Amino acid sequence: MSIKENIEAVREKIAEAAKAAGRDPSSITLVGASKMNDAAACREAIAAGIDALGENRVQEMTEKLAENAYDGAPLYFIGHLQRNKVKQVVGKVALIQSVGSDPLLDEIEKQAEKLGIVQDILLEVNVGGEEAKSGYEPAAVFAAALRAKGMAHVRLRGLMTVPPIETEVGQNLANFQKVYRLYVDINQKLYDNTFDILSMGMSGDYADAVRAGATMVRVGTAIFGHRAYPAAKQEGTV
Ligand SMILES: *Cc1c(COP(=O)(O)O)cnc(C)c1O
Repeated sequence: MSIKENIEAVREKIAEAAKAAGRDPSSITLVGASKMNDAAACREAIAAGIDALGENRVQEMTEKLAENAYDGAPLYFIGHLQRNKVKQVVGKVALIQSVGSDPLLDEIEKQAEKLGIVQDILLEVNVGGEEAKSGYEPAAVFAAALRAKGMAHVRLRGLMTVPPIETEVGQNLANFQKVYRLYVDINQKLYDNTFDILSMGMSGDYADAVRAGATMVRVGTAIFGHRAYPAAKQEGTV
C-alpha cells in the first residue's frame, strides 16, 4: 500500500468512527507523525492531502526543514521537548503539542516574546500517570491552563495526550474520555469555549479517540509503515 492509499484508508476509518459517534468527519484533523521518515515521504503525504505533519525530534525536524520537507502543510511539534531546545522550535512550527511542565511553558513564552510572536500550544496530559512519560498529571492541567492564559505570547488551543500502550484493544477509550472531560471543563471555565484542538489517538487507537471526542489524531505507522529504527536501539535485539 502506498502512503496515499494508507491515508485514504485511515480517513475512511476516521469517518466511520465519527459518524457512529454522531460527529462530522471533516471536523477531525489528520496529522501524519513522520518521525524516522525522510523528506520524500513527507512530500508524498502532503501531495496525498494530509492535513499536517508532526515531528518528535528537534534535530531531525531541523534537518528536514532545511530540505523543505514540509512545504505545503502545517508542521507541528509533538515529541518531548527539552527546555534547551525551545529556541529551535518556537516560531518554526504552527503548534507545539507537547507542553507538559511549567518550566517548559515559561521558556516557550520567553522565547516567543523575544521573537515578538504568539506561539500556539497544547498542554500534554499524562493521563496514565506514568513515571517515564512527560506531561501534566490530570489534576494539574487546570492550573497550567490558567498559567498559560496569563501569558501574552502563547495561545493555548487545547490538550494533547499519549495514553499508556494498550495491552488490549479498546483499553484506552476510558483514558480518552477522561481527557475529553478535562478539555471540556477547562474550555468552559477558563477559555470561553475557544479551545478547538483535542489531539489524541495514534495508529492503534485513533478510532477510539474519535469516539471519545478527539478533534485531531496523530498517525504514523498506519500511514508511513513500520519505522526502521537503528538496529542497536531496537527492543529485543541483542
Ligand atoms: C510516533 C508518535 C505518534 C504516531 O504513532 P503510531 O503508533 O506510529 O501511529 C503519535 N504521537 C506521538 C507523540 C508520537 O511520538
